[in-house]
Amino acid sequence: MDARRDTGAGSGQIVINIHNEPQPTDLGDVRVANRAVVLRHVRLHAPCSRADIAARTGLNKATVSSLVTELIDQRLIRETGLTENRVGRPATMLVLDGEPYAALGLQIGADELVAVAIDLGGNRLLTWRRAFAASTVSPTETLRALAALTRRAVGRVTAQGRTVLGLTVGVPGLVDPSGAVPLASALGWRDVPVAAELRAALREPEFAVGVDSVANLAALAEQRHGGYAGGTDLVHLTGGLAVGAGIIAGGRLLRGGRGFAGEIGHLSLDPSGPPCPCGNHGCLTALVGLPAVVRRLLPDVEADGPVTDYLPELTRIVALARQDDPGVCGGLAETGRHLGRGVAVLADLLNPETVVLGDHFATLAPWLLPAARSELAARAHAPGAGGCRLEASTLDTAGALGGATAALATVEAGRLPVR
Ligand SMILES: [Zn+2]
Repeated sequence: MDARRDTGAGSGQIVINIHNEPQPTDLGDVRVANRAVVLRHVRLHAPCSRADIAARTGLNKATVSSLVTELIDQRLIRETGLTENRVGRPATMLVLDGEPYAALGLQIGADELVAVAIDLGGNRLLTWRRAFAASTVSPTETLRALAALTRRAVGRVTAQGRTVLGLTVGVPGLVDPSGAVPLASALGWRDVPVAAELRAALREPEFAVGVDSVANLAALAEQRHGGYAGGTDLVHLTGGLAVGAGIIAGGRLLRGGRGFAGEIGHLSLDPSGPPCPCGNHGCLTALVGLPAVVRRLLPDVEADGPVTDYLPELTRIVALARQDDPGVCGGLAETGRHLGRGVAVLADLLNPETVVLGDHFATLAPWLLPAARSELAARAHAPGAGGCRLEASTLDTAGALGGATAALATVEAGRLPVR
């Protein structure tokens, strides 16, 4: 039995058709899928009535009514006092219930750990940034610090009476489907079972603990919450220690066979270029990653030892660029050209509508974008770079926000939360 068919209405909604001799074992799955359809409709179109949901999704009214009752019982949606003015009886309107739940996202940044919590509607409950140089300590120390930050964030949201739906951690490196990190060269990590160790450090919590690459999570955040949200073909290019591409293609995250897609940071653009933490030379990361940019623009910066706190250096660069310092502006234009060459590869491979620049690229965008855009236009094979726009992200802490967004996925897919 083919239980699903696309409405073709352009909304991506799925209509469930159970009229063709449903197998009893399928009914549970159908209800889960229908629940997801209702939740998605309320998320995108709230406030809306039961009749609206039935009309727009193709589900029959009795099914919608039963699902809505269940979702209200679970406190995933709630009724508002609003009514719709239309001929006939006024309808009770429905919205997502933001109160009872929270989803957490964490991110290992260049010189910080970030925690973000959101409610079911995607509203931010907290954003915490803690100075921490993960590349200078052992994986064990980093995971211990992540667990401590998680415990505090969980404590904060549970004190508000919320149940934690899940947690996803963003790591700047390769993450396999089990949540282990086979390689994160920017951190010097090999074979770190991040999800398993974090679950153990949190004493096997009731909620799911997921791990993904920062780039994938940032792309999810961009697709859901960013200035170019809703696009079906979008790339978020992360900066910081490890340049990586989170790729939304045809509306879905492109992961590849083992989950390692998007590692454009180790595309060697100049084999005689500077060394990269991965062992090669002239990788995009070695040319435009945050350490490379700081080294290029502030040649004196490592006189007192390696940089572990990048924010003051980035602030210094912005101040010098604002004063039109010729050395810094020239260095930023050079960085922009390298970046544009990398983006041209993405444009040719994926033909995205938009490539969004995150992290330090977004901070430095006013000085990087002109050179990067002209390099993109000159290098990409398709005329006009295939329509690819290159823009700066407007999101703060995109990786952690995407982690929290990913932690909502199970409920959004129609599975009821454990309370
Ligand atoms: Zn490399």
